[in-house]
Amino acid sequence: MICTNPFYTLEIGGASLFSCRPSGKNTAVPFDWPIFEIDGEKTEIAPETFGLTDRRFLNDKIEQLTFSGEARGCTLKLELLICAFTPFFRFRYFLSSNSDLRLTKSGGDSVSYFSYPDEGAVRRTEVRLSEYDQLVHSYRLREVPAFEHEDALMGPILAEERRDFSLLVAYEHGSTYPDKYLCYEKKDGKIALCAVKGNYLHGQSLRDDPFESIWFQAGAVDGDTDALARAYREFQLEYCSLNAASRKPYIFYNTWAYQERNRFYNKQAYLSSMNEERITKEIGIAHKMGVDVFVIDTGWFSKTGDWETNGSRFPSGMKHIADLLKERGMILGLWFAPPAAACTSEILKKHKGNIRSANGKTSTPGPVWETEDSYDMCLVSDYWDDFADRLIELAGKTGVRYFKWDAVSMFGCDAPGHRHGGEDSSQWERADNYSFNLVRYLSKIADKVCAAVPDAIVDFDVTEHGRCVGLAFLSSGKYFAVNNGPYYPNYDITVPPDQWINVFVNPGPARGWVCRKTLCYDKWIPSVLFMTHYLPDDPEASQLINLASLVLGQNGIWGDLPNVSDNGVALFRAVLNEYKRVRGDVTAADPVVYGCPGDSFEVYEKINRKTRRGLISVFTNAGGKYVYRVKSAVDGKPVVFGGASISEKDGFTYLTVQAKGPSAAILFFGGKA
Ligand SMILES: [Zn+2]
Repeated sequence: MICTNPFYTLEIGGASLFSCRPSGKNTAVPFDWPIFEIDGEKTEIAPETFGLTDRRFLNDKIEQLTFSGEARGCTLKLELLICAFTPFFRFRYFLSSNSDLRLTKSGGDSVSYFSYPDEGAVRRTEVRLSEYDQLVHSYRLREVPAFEHEDALMGPILAEERRDFSLLVAYEHGSTYPDKYLCYEKKDGKIALCAVKGNYLHGQSLRDDPFESIWFQAGAVDGDTDALARAYREFQLEYCSLNAASRKPYIFYNTWAYQERNRFYNKQAYLSSMNEERITKEIGIAHKMGVDVFVIDTGWFSKTGDWETNGSRFPSGMKHIADLLKERGMILGLWFAPPAAACTSEILKKHKGNIRSANGKTSTPGPVWETEDSYDMCLVSDYWDDFADRLIELAGKTGVRYFKWDAVSMFGCDAPGHRHGGEDSSQWERADNYSFNLVRYLSKIADKVCAAVPDAIVDFDVTEHGRCVGLAFLSSGKYFAVNNGPYYPNYDITVPPDQWINVFVNPGPARGWVCRKTLCYDKWIPSVLFMTHYLPDDPEASQLINLASLVLGQNGIWGDLPNVSDNGVALFRAVLNEYKRVRGDVTAADPVVYGCPGDSFEVYEKINRKTRRGLISVFTNAGGKYVYRVKSAVDGKPVVFGGASISEKDGFTYLTVQAKGPSAAILFFGGKA
């Protein structure tokens, strides 16, 4: 079958799985059929009978094509997601059999998901998404010259700049570098994406337990690697996920900052401010500031697992809070620890067999932020489905639309009898299969919730090491990227007893240096998918730095709102009002970045190339005069906050900042009608 859109011609089936020819080019890139090890033999599944069996639109843009065919006693099904507006497409496999054929592992996982010819004269870049940087205590993106330092590349994105076009392949999984579950390798004149560990079980019956792969992505653009990154960024924003609300540039507020301050500054309990009176007060201020999504962090519930509202903290109920928010144009968000189930919860009674267990010992229950002791449940078990149903039910009962997921490590269960291996598999294999599958189950939960509640957003906290960071979850939701950044031990500093263990919790420029590091993703993946929270505290100089940072797309406010001055609230309102006029453009804009966080001078141009609207944020750390030539074409005179001015010379726009020291300015272009 041949499938075309403005960007490519895709020939599916035949000598190769598919062959992709970018529009206007003579060269096609053939992708080989997958190779599995079945009953000890490497088996290329190349069905002669391969053909289209189903075709349907999943939304107004994304179409799903299903192909199926028989080969060597197996049925290979291919699901392909295409869209007329992007050069990128997604695909995955299902492998099953009517006879008792089994996937095997003679020497570890043995699957080649796809491969394509290794053209010699190309520039390849590995785009690594899960490098954990201890200096800023958060994940960051790294571009690495591919195959120059390692033979087995983690990716998950591999970019290839050829003479007349650039090719991208990627896989949707997530783990922290260098913990590889799949990798790209060069072999037999090909570049192949291979399974490394945990992808399936040795002896997995294709009749009783058919194999379902993760999703893969591919596409090509007319241009260099930078053009590829721009197109890929747009794909991630508009045409990859069916869960569109996760891409919206709302302004988010989260209550946790004060809960933590109250604990360490005032020696109160984390949950002592978790009550209707305080939350109602914060809602009033959040509304004045221009917040869109009000997230109540931990402590709002009576028991984990059941996730009922705590009636003594919220006597009028959570629906009342959601209604208060709705009247003020805001959306309710709530905190969850997906694996936690309280010892006396109803859900635990049903799922006693699905408690997380390692080395034959079930997890020991412990308190969850001053609430009842809870067990850690295995999410790669039937528990996932009931947890998803619980969230859907809550959305109906309370109106919650934003689900913040915290405390999900990707390790720790090797129990037989869940969905990651039985008694036939070794303990190690069950542990690897659990870690491999965890992110797939997180996505299943998020997808089920979003299918039932289309405006729901699921956000996954990946502020700590060992989270499943990669492309899988981004197809279902978004990341919560930075909490407070580094702790004292990150810098080998001993923490005195009862001291707040985080370093960057004060107003001023320093927190921004840490938080803005995450903007490194914005070249490939929109910053709106890596939420990071900034402090609203006075003085005004700090507020401007934090505002100039958050409007770049991380969009989070980490608050102690009643402590913000009236002038501060008004400044947030004024800046966020301007931001909201252009936020669609800012979100769509691929960034032009000059300097790094902490440098004397740092500039971010977030101007939509098509509309010339958007904003520029400028930061200084040292006093002096800076004159900067703006690279983007901008629309008219800007609305400026902070000390910066604009001038025109020889057809260029110049930005001048006369700084006395650390400062920030924001220039909004094209906002006013
Ligand atoms: Zn388990």
